[in-house]
Amino acid sequence: MTSLLLHTCCGPCALYTIDYWRGRGLQVTALWYNPNIHPFQEHQARLGAMNTVSELKAVPLIVVPGYQMVRYLRAVVGKERERCGQCYRLRLEKAAQVAKERGFDAFTTTLFISPHQDHRLLSQIGRELAAHYGTAFLSDDLRAGFRESHRASRELGLYHQRYCGCIYSEWERYAKATMPPIRC
Ligand code: SF4
Repeated sequence: MTSLLLHTCCGPCALYTIDYWRGRGLQVTALWYNPNIHPFQEHQARLGAMNTVSELKAVPLIVVPGYQMVRYLRAVVGKERERCGQCYRLRLEKAAQVAKERGFDAFTTTLFISPHQDHRLLSQIGRELAAHYGTAFLSDDLRAGFRESHRASRELGLYHQRYCGCIYSEWERYAKATMPPIRC
C-alpha cells in the first residue's frame, strides 16, 4: 500500500480528505504545520480540532513542534499580494521534507478541498518541491467534497474558522477589505 503524508490545514477540511485518499487504497498519516495561522490561540483552536479528527478517524498525526509565525511573516512581508504562494510553499516544503525523511511514498495537502485556494498554484509548487526533495506529490480536485466535509464537521461540533488563517486574511474578513482576495 502506498503511504501518504497529508498536510492538514484544519479539522473540517481533513474529514473528507482523509476518507478520499483512503478510498483510493492509500495509508494516510496527517501532518500539522501551519505557521500562517494567527493569532496563536486561533492556531491552537484549529490544532485542537485536528487532534479530534485524528482520534475519530484513527489517523496518525505528526505535529511539527513550535509556532513559526515569525518565519511566515518573514516570507511574506513586502510581498503581501503574492503571499498565498509563499504560504503554500512554506507549508508544502515542510510536508515534502517530512515525507522524504520518514520514508512516505508521497505527500499532498487538504488545501485541495477548498474552493477558495488557488489549485493551479498549489499543484505547481507541490510538483516543484517533490522534484527537489525526490518524493512524489499527489493532487486531485476535491472541491466537490467541501460542503459535505464542513457539514460533517458541524455535526461533530468541531471548531470552525472564520477566515483563512493569516492576520491579513483576518483583516480582509472583518473589514471586508478588497485588496487581495479573501480566502477561507
Ligand atoms: S490568505 Fe490563507 S493561503 Fe493566503 S497567505 Fe493567508 S493564510 Fe496563507
